[in-house]
Amino acid sequence: MRWEAISINPEITRQLPVWFHLGASNELKKLNNRLYANCLRAGHKALSVGKLEALTLRQDPSHRKHHKCPCTNCTYDRTLQCKKPFKCMQLAKDILTCILPKWNPQSCTTPYALNISPEQIATVEETQSDQAPAPFDPIFPTTDSLDSGFRAFITPRTPCTLPARQIREQQRNTPELIRIIIACSHQINRNSDHESSGVAWLGHGNIRNKAIKLPEDLAAPGAREAGALLTAISTLPTNIPL
Ligand SMILES: [Zn+2]
Ligand SMILES: [Zn+2]
Repeated sequence: MRWEAISINPEITRQLPVWFHLGASNELKKLNNRLYANCLRAGHKALSVGKLEALTLRQDPSHRKHHKCPCTNCTYDRTLQCKKPFKCMQLAKDILTCILPKWNPQSCTTPYALNISPEQIATVEETQSDQAPAPFDPIFPTTDSLDSGFRAFITPRTPCTLPARQIREQQRNTPELIRIIIACSHQINRNSDHESSGVAWLGHGNIRNKAIKLPEDLAAPGAREAGALLTAISTLPTNIPL
């Protein structure tokens, strides 16, 4: 069993335990045992990524890198029996740099907006109807709580540490809806072999029109339709509304 997700929203990354973090570089193992690491854990009670991040984001213009710094934050930290608050804060910053991009609240998500054409914008009646077609939004899923991030069926491969990125293209003109008509035929011949053919049609004379035949081991009712559709889509520019 492992905690894993394709993408993780910043709030969830902040809830993950920071010590022995499951998405950190090997450098973190060295920092776990530093002199001030124990003060961060026991004194400052920095057990999660979010708590550690909050400590590093504190600001006070009168702060000095000195163990007797009179600033509000250091004064408070000394009431927690912290001998050198500025050393603890430096270690906290170093630890956060070890959290890899997919798991780091500062880099785990990328800006994304669904690109749809005017025809796809739902009318008031459509938004109130369960039967109205809805545009497919390919947003990558994120777990909505720590509990739901545990996975029982996992590969032995090392988990990916890069955030799942969606390509965002500069939209110069109104997005034009691409309509694809698909058709498929499937039959079993006299040798009991499955045969099927699929077509994806974008328009008269369109060079992206596709007619394909899948290998027999992939042939199944509907498979050709899906194959032709995917082949046609793969030739289109990314971020095109379909
Ligand atoms: Zn200070
Ligand atoms: Zn401390």
